[in-house]
Amino acid sequence: MKCPHCLESFHEAMATYGIGSDKQGDWAISACNCPACRKRIIALVSGKSPLIPARGGLIPGNVHQYVLVYPKAISRGGCPKEVPQEFANDYFEACSVLSDSPKASAALSRRCLQLLLRDVAKVKHSTLEKEIQEILDSQKVPSHITDIIDAVRQIGNFAAHPIKSKSSGEIVPVEPGEAELNLDVLEALFDFYFTQPAKTQARKNALNIKLKDAGKPPIK
Ligand SMILES: [Zn+2]
Repeated sequence: MKCPHCLESFHEAMATYGIGSDKQGDWAISACNCPACRKRIIALVSGKSPLIPARGGLIPGNVHQYVLVYPKAISRGGCPKEVPQEFANDYFEACSVLSDSPKASAALSRRCLQLLLRDVAKVKHSTLEKEIQEILDSQKVPSHITDIIDAVRQIGNFAAHPIKSKSSGEIVPVEPGEAELNLDVLEALFDFYFTQPAKTQARKNALNIKLKDAGKPPIK
C-alpha cells in the first residue's frame, strides 16, 4: 500500500484488531507504522463476517468499508512557501476535506482556480468555463498544464452542471476523480506561477553576486 503520510509504497501487513460486531457484520481497527516515515497509519474497517481470519490481517473480499482515521486524508505534495496565503488557504482546506466530501473539496478548488486565473493570469472576469478558454487561447501556459486545465471542465461536465462555471464555489455533485484533478491543476499552476519564477529569480540573484565580484554589470 501507499503511505498516506509520505506517499512511499510498502508491503508491510497492517495489524488488525477486532472491535466487535453488529447486524451489518464485523468491525476492526487496522494499523501499522510506515517503514519510510515511521508514522502510524490507522484505519477503521467493517465488512462481512469473518473479517479477520485466525492468523490476523484481513480477508480482502469481506471488507465493505475502509476509512482512513489517521492521518485523516492522503497527504498531497504540500503547498510551496512561495504560494500567496489567499490561494494556499483554499488549497489546504480543499485537501483536508477531500476524503470526507469531494463535493466540498471540488467547490473550494474551483473557486481557488478562478481566483488564480483572475488575479494572476489576469483573465477577463466571466464564467469559469470562458476564463479557462481564455487561458487556453492565450498560449501563455505550457501545454502539459493547459491539457489538465481543459480536463477540469471536461471531467467536471460543465455543460451538464453550468452552476460549476457560473458560481465556482457552489457545492454541487462531482464526477469520480474530479476533486483530485482540480487539486492537480492547482498544484501545476502554483508551480508555474509562483515556484518556478522564484527559483529563476534566486538563480539570477546568485549569478549577479558573482558578476558584481568580477566587476561586471548585473543581468536583468
Ligand atoms: Zn510514510
